[in-house]
Amino acid sequence: MSSLTTNHRLLIDGQLRAATGGATFDNINPTTGQVAGTAPDATAADGEEALSAARRAFDETDWANDVALRVRVLRQLDDALRAHEQELTEITVTEVGAPLGSCATVQVHEPLAVVEWFANLAESYDWSTDLGVRDTMGGPARRWIEREPIGVVAAITPWNVPNHINIAKVVPALAAGCTVVLKPAPETPWTGLALGQLFAEHTDLPAGVLNVVTAADKKFGAFLTTDPRVDLISFTGSTETGRRIMAAAAENLTKVFLELGGKSVHLILEDVADMGLAAAFAAIGTGVVAGQGCALTTRVLIPQARYEEGVQQIAAMMSTITVGDPADAATVMGPLITAAQRDRVEGYVQGAVDQGATIVCGGKRPADLDSGFFYEPTLLAGVTNQMTAAQEEIFGPVLVAIPYADDDEAVAIANDSIYGLSGAIFSDDPAHALAVAKRIRTGTMSINGGVWYAPDVPFGGYKQSGLGREMGLAGFEEHLEIKSYSEPAS
Ligand code: NAD
Repeated sequence: MSSLTTNHRLLIDGQLRAATGGATFDNINPTTGQVAGTAPDATAADGEEALSAARRAFDETDWANDVALRVRVLRQLDDALRAHEQELTEITVTEVGAPLGSCATVQVHEPLAVVEWFANLAESYDWSTDLGVRDTMGGPARRWIEREPIGVVAAITPWNVPNHINIAKVVPALAAGCTVVLKPAPETPWTGLALGQLFAEHTDLPAGVLNVVTAADKKFGAFLTTDPRVDLISFTGSTETGRRIMAAAAENLTKVFLELGGKSVHLILEDVADMGLAAAFAAIGTGVVAGQGCALTTRVLIPQARYEEGVQQIAAMMSTITVGDPADAATVMGPLITAAQRDRVEGYVQGAVDQGATIVCGGKRPADLDSGFFYEPTLLAGVTNQMTAAQEEIFGPVLVAIPYADDDEAVAIANDSIYGLSGAIFSDDPAHALAVAKRIRTGTMSINGGVWYAPDVPFGGYKQSGLGREMGLAGFEEHLEIKSYSEPAS
């Protein structure tokens, strides 16, 4: 057994190894802007070997049929992840810039519960359903359905919450009986490699069932989107890349399962007497993962008559967010992932100002942090939903505040987006909140601060936020085919 935090290796056909030729690429720590270490830079030959191994493991081993083995392997993984939580946290602080507080929740700790939940689901799942006897065109027939794993899954993941997303992609696929090639984002290679290493060193996973390949080239995983040996492309990332992947998959009609971007609303209804709680949630949402979260609520809708009051309360809360070294337990918000991501955020804020918005707080790099890719939590007011900053996913700690006249207008603004991933609604009357929430076309909705994230809750988007659902029973069944049987009934 070796440490997870050093000697990062690919997992191909059961072997933990360097890339062919030994090439590596730098992993940059976004807190310092300096090289934290290296990761293997897989070649095309490594990718081919990984995919061949996954195909062979699916076609030629008993993995797809052996539920007991799968459950055992996932429980072994659960133990291993929990035993190595501290190292996973160190990696996540280093390569994501995620503060310790976020590692204790969404970045590292909470995702661990996903493993046991899917092990239990695989164990108790009704793989076969009896449809009974029916008079058919050919006489009485007994019919039944069996569910089978879809086959080889290509899992392509982003950098913002990599432990969670790698686990949420790999574990349900394996629980269902699929084999997997995981291609993590080049910005956060170590979390994916650590998952591969834990499987290889601590579980009875057969060779080839999970393969993990990292590469410097962002588009390295493109070969997985066009190869007919892949049965399902499970992708999380930007809507733009999702479109490309879906177009590439069309050639072989490969099934795609897409978790994409969002521009979700945080809607404060008129009946909220005290805006304090709603303002606090709006502000915290911006700080989580430095605003680099697809499901974050980045458009806050405030009743016109109380717009100033709402804006001031949110700005006051945002100014309490401590930005700095993610390894410091007092830090709430760390850096953005790259210099390019910060440039992008700065461009959006300047663009909003050019279109007539005003910066209420933030809008610049913190003066006291001269290394790394930090940016202050930023609130923009005077924003209309037509502005670019209200329509496009900024993926940084920027919240836009939009006034509305009544519920109908709030719903219209919420739905005036290509996205439909998440949302939050605040009301002193839960029935009012639910009635309005039902009118918003989005995949998840929090009412008065309720947290929906859990292994049994399906997550995914309407419209251009994606296709399909991750986690929960629905997420499991994305990885299954249905086969229907019939035989003459005597
Ligand atoms: P991205 O789309 O640039 O990259 C995501 C992954 O796809 C990376 O592994 C990247 O290397 C790979 N990739 C890029 N181009 C590819 C191509 N042509 N073929 C195959 N693979 C390719 O996204 P990102 O910048 O890494 O992540 C940020 C985006 O992800 C945001 O838009 C965010 O909203 C979205 N996201 C969505 C969810 C969700 O569940 N809906 C979760 C997290 C992030």
